[in-house]
Amino acid sequence: MNKRGKILAVFVSGVFLLLSFSASWLISKYQPPETFSKIFSSDSNGFHQAKFSQKICNGVQCAMCPHKCFLPDGARGKCRVRANFSGSLVTLNYSKPVSVHIDPIEKKPVYHLLPGSLIYSIASAGCNLKCKWCQNWQISQIYPEEASEKLLAPINLKLLFNPLTRQVTGKLEHKEVSSLTPAQVVEYAIASKCKSIAYTYSEPIIFYEYMYDTAKLAKEKGLKNVMVTAGYINPEPLRELVKYMDVVKVDLKGFNKKFYLNYVGGELERVKKALLVLKEEKVFFEIVNLIVPTLNDDESDMREMIVWIKKNLGVNVPIFFSRFSPNYKLKNVPATSVETLEKARNLALKEGLNFVYIGNLSGHPGESTYCPKCKQMLIKRHGYAILGDLVSRNGGKCPYCGTKIPGIWK
Ligand code: SF4
Repeated sequence: MNKRGKILAVFVSGVFLLLSFSASWLISKYQPPETFSKIFSSDSNGFHQAKFSQKICNGVQCAMCPHKCFLPDGARGKCRVRANFSGSLVTLNYSKPVSVHIDPIEKKPVYHLLPGSLIYSIASAGCNLKCKWCQNWQISQIYPEEASEKLLAPINLKLLFNPLTRQVTGKLEHKEVSSLTPAQVVEYAIASKCKSIAYTYSEPIIFYEYMYDTAKLAKEKGLKNVMVTAGYINPEPLRELVKYMDVVKVDLKGFNKKFYLNYVGGELERVKKALLVLKEEKVFFEIVNLIVPTLNDDESDMREMIVWIKKNLGVNVPIFFSRFSPNYKLKNVPATSVETLEKARNLALKEGLNFVYIGNLSGHPGESTYCPKCKQMLIKRHGYAILGDLVSRNGGKCPYCGTKIPGIWK
């Protein structure tokens, strides 16, 4: 070999070594070895065949969300809960909720579905995004094996009538569980007098299979389904899922590409695409936009978002501008001012959006629903309480002028 050949050989081996080193570093980053084997050997409830994947070279690629993680054997995706186990993509959180509660539906917040009703709400560990202000980071930014083994799940709501005071009170029963099957979720939701089930708190698309099976069963039993999501999901799984969803609540976190990349960990265009898919699939959806002072409160971005919604999704999509509170990695950012929230709401109303709300500001008139035609107040809210509902009582129409109000009212 001449001198040039030797230099080339050294260079090629160097590149090869560097690539091997980077690959092992990447794999170790997504796979804490001591816990991965523990899950697979100790609890068969914890993992389940995952949908939407394809085999590539000597690994699998997850096709659930736009990250499209390529996973060599033993590695996990960015969401921490989907992994390549012996050449198959599995999910590690099936039937493993980390948070189960009964909430007023207004807490989701969902305003155009059965106002004042109770919603059985479940979440599993993990998330495919990394919002720096996450309100639920204790469950969204952890591995499933880091969650506590057991939790209290509501299983029954008894209504008690006191003949002396003539008052009805509720007594909620709980049970300690380490897993909940889809059938149990549906059974407990019905026994707890809930009209619907919410897949919420963390990002539900990372427990897609659990949500899908539960939603399918819930629909058969007459319950409604609500997914509260950041919309970071690929079109195919989304289309497949919304067959069983009654309402999708999308957290549109801003309208600036850099903000999405730096503070959310995803691409804005993918979320816009998901919203267009929801529109095409004719599933009812609402949008919430949390306004974080100095980060996503730019007036021109906000105007651009409102105009895009109007043009592409229509004027009847309910949109919430919600108040940010300092949390997680953004404890140094102040809460959103009332003035900023009102400015955003006024921009959207002026642009012609019909149902514009202010969120996380209990008692503000922007919590209530008004008829877009005659402007009468139709649903009066105060925080999570419904003080009057003329829409549900009038078959989904304004009782003053007959305008149909979009939503699900019975
Ligand atoms: S859901 Fe997204 S983040 Fe998780 S493994 Fe699949 S592609 Fe990666």
